[in-house]
Amino acid sequence: MQIEEISRSYNKKTKIVATIGPASESEEKLEKMIKAGMNVARLNFSHGTHEWHGKIIKRIRKICAKLNANIGILADLQGPRIRVQTNGDIDAKRGKEILVSDVRYRKVVSDMSASIFFLDHPGIIDGIKEGNEILVEDGLIKVKVIKKEKNFLRTKVIDGGMIKNRKGVNIPDAQLNIGVITKKDDLDLKFSLENGVDFVALSFVSSAKDILDLRKKMKRILGKKDSPQIIAKIERKEAIKNLDEIIEQTDIVMVARGDLGIELDPSKVVIWQKEIIKKSLKKAKPVIVATQMLNSMIENPRPTRAEVSDVSNAVIDHTDAVMLSGESASGKYPIESVKMMTEIIKNTEESPFDDVYKYMDLHITTEYATVVRSAYEIAKSYDVKAIVMISLSGFTARLVSHFRPDQNILVVTNNTKTFNQFSLVWGISGYLFEGDEKLETLIDKMLVKAKKEKCVNAGDNVVVIVGRDCSGNKMRLVGIRRA
Ligand code: PGA
Ligand code: MN
Repeated sequence: MQIEEISRSYNKKTKIVATIGPASESEEKLEKMIKAGMNVARLNFSHGTHEWHGKIIKRIRKICAKLNANIGILADLQGPRIRVQTNGDIDAKRGKEILVSDVRYRKVVSDMSASIFFLDHPGIIDGIKEGNEILVEDGLIKVKVIKKEKNFLRTKVIDGGMIKNRKGVNIPDAQLNIGVITKKDDLDLKFSLENGVDFVALSFVSSAKDILDLRKKMKRILGKKDSPQIIAKIERKEAIKNLDEIIEQTDIVMVARGDLGIELDPSKVVIWQKEIIKKSLKKAKPVIVATQMLNSMIENPRPTRAEVSDVSNAVIDHTDAVMLSGESASGKYPIESVKMMTEIIKNTEESPFDDVYKYMDLHITTEYATVVRSAYEIAKSYDVKAIVMISLSGFTARLVSHFRPDQNILVVTNNTKTFNQFSLVWGISGYLFEGDEKLETLIDKMLVKAKKEKCVNAGDNVVVIVGRDCSGNKMRLVGIRRA
């Protein structure tokens, strides 16, 4: 079976990101996940060695070459994830006093008799104020800062539990003066760029400056080479405050509900999910909804009804992609999880509830906006089966996608990076052609392929747009033709 038959036979428009881990690392499983509807493979740099990540990247590229598929590879940088350091487990009972310090003072305050844990970023306690809450292990344990002493903080336990070494920490209200790109991230970034990943995700983004800093770093390493797209993970309270400027600067947005649900009241997360998707769509930036979507499938072959409903509702929110984490990385049912997501997406998109409404609010040249809008309007008001186009950077294709048209969006590019990056954009079927043939010839060739894949039938009407080409021609609306 050809990949064109495989990946497009589902005819799903919402894309699937699946995290790769021990449960899904074999070539056989990766291929099965691709055939089940996975579009993007996420490598989580919080785990695994460079050797392991390198092996997975090679495997995926090999399968893609065999199947002629465009599976995007996403390197997810850990960012300034704060962790606990202890000498042993601390039984933090409700109401008890616990001291908190950072690694700078490990020697100074270690011999105090009271229960104490350290945060692994030097200088971090300076930004924590009296009244701030410190959350440990997915927010399960909560302590509140009562008094700031010279080298440590006195806290009182609000929600008790065992505080263990290396557990993750969130401090939602503190202004943390730690850089968003750590030394580890620098090494992981260099490795990722050398290995040609398609997307780089940055964790715990606070402001647009974080995105600009990453972009500068990438440019320094890459020079003139094609750059991966940047994904801003929205998972800090600060990021919610600075949402508009972050969306403006990033290429792609992720609603990282795991940490966001710790930093914010969990009951507000779904409201922010809708808000973030809406704002991203307005700017034609692809958006991913992540974390715990089918969480119970880590253990069980079938998800809960609430989880199915969560995926379905994200599709109804018009997200570009939904994501699997533990379900595909370390769970018992990685392939089944992808299949389940595909089924939910397909059924939701077929329903009338996946209604399309307009977001167009683009602050870009009128020429672009007008041409793309016209193509969309023609497709909507006339019997058209697909919107077809040439898009070398992918920009035109993303503009068309953000209208969420009913028609298939068929896009031809001559750029491998762009081709792979289509894996994350709603509704786009990408086609890669090498060489520098005339644009019209490329469209003809693409339509031949699309007919074979049954994306369109001979005689169907299609709307054609041609984006900027290599020789700097302007974008043109070519009009309606037959496939
Ligand atoms: P993580 O990010 O899995 O890297 O923590 C996603 C999230 O926080 O939801
Ligand atoms: Mn996170």
